[in-house]
Amino acid sequence: MSLSADNDATRRAGAILTVDLANIAANWRGLRDAGRADGKPIDCAAVVKADAYGTGAAIVGPRLAAEGCRQFFVAQIEEGIALRRVLPEHPIHVLNGLLPGTEADFVEFGITPVLNHLGQLNAWRAAAQRFNRPLDAVIHIDTGMHRLGFSPEEAQVLSNERGRLRGLRLALIMSHLVASEEQANPINGEQLARFRSFVRTMPGAPASLANSSGIFLGPDYHFDLLRPGASLYGINPLPGQPNPMLPTVTLHARILQVRRIDALQTVGYGAAWRSARPSRVATIALGYADGYFRTLINRTHVHLAGHKVPVIGRISMDLVTIDVTDVPEAESQPGAPVEILGPHLTTDDLADHARTNAYEVMTALGRRYARVYLDAGVDTGPAA
Ligand SMILES: *Cc1c(COP(=O)(O)O)cnc(C)c1O
Repeated sequence: MSLSADNDATRRAGAILTVDLANIAANWRGLRDAGRADGKPIDCAAVVKADAYGTGAAIVGPRLAAEGCRQFFVAQIEEGIALRRVLPEHPIHVLNGLLPGTEADFVEFGITPVLNHLGQLNAWRAAAQRFNRPLDAVIHIDTGMHRLGFSPEEAQVLSNERGRLRGLRLALIMSHLVASEEQANPINGEQLARFRSFVRTMPGAPASLANSSGIFLGPDYHFDLLRPGASLYGINPLPGQPNPMLPTVTLHARILQVRRIDALQTVGYGAAWRSARPSRVATIALGYADGYFRTLINRTHVHLAGHKVPVIGRISMDLVTIDVTDVPEAESQPGAPVEILGPHLTTDDLADHARTNAYEVMTALGRRYARVYLDAGVDTGPAA
């Protein structure tokens, strides 16, 4: 990547995050088609919480809508309100549910709360009465996560007393899998059985169970609506197997300065790395404030002009040091772009190095990066 200076923000930026919208769209189409292969009219939503897993919901959302995506999930109402500005018509569901006192906000912005217990259902019904209009409702049943959602007892109440939904339009019933990335885990089948038996008591209501990895558990898990997040953004839904998704982000940081040090000199805070030989050390423009975790110390590498280069010393807030002793000087000059994430190292790889998962790597992607959106080779510039 050249980091071509096609606008002021990218010209000045120490680090540039490139988001490939065409690949996000292709990932969405691939998942939707996996659902359609069942021969049923299965729809595919997009989970765009946490700013579309760090990629930029205000840009990714409309792009997926243009691709045919009709429903969107966020975690928080504020995320829903922001998305409503760029998606005036599409259903937007808020997974975290209905906080007391926010009913009018949901109504005002036409956003659907995912109702996670009977109290929220009652509050939403009361809002439908107060505003004197039928409101959409999504019901979340807890089938084993024990985090959010109707308990089995509450679900039973709802199955027995459908009148509790009067004044509401049941747009979706859903549940969430605990361990969908572990294909052999028996809890998947147990949750499926619990969800099925609830779905049977609510005839006519569309149902949704599968997140990214859940889609790959097979057609039994698909129901009417798929609910992928991570896989849209290229995170591998099949850990330990080849990634069926296309990568969507690359990250480059520029070299700020290069210095020569003697043998037995230390680099960075805490004198945590010591040179075994006379060395050349390059300092690059990103740090833990940009989501490059401190736990990466002594555990990862970057790529510079095709060379694999170790990251040395502690990660600073704004700076990372790398050992470029074995890289030709002409290729390791100030301004040179260093590949942090890209063809040589995926978000899943970096997550392994940091002892976390790619979800955390992506949602921690820094707000300070200049962002470039690629769409089939067309550069749409940095985010507004
Ligand atoms: C985050 C989330 C998803 C998406 O999960 P991925 O594993 O990222 O595909 C789906 N459903 C719910 C309830 C979620 O919280």
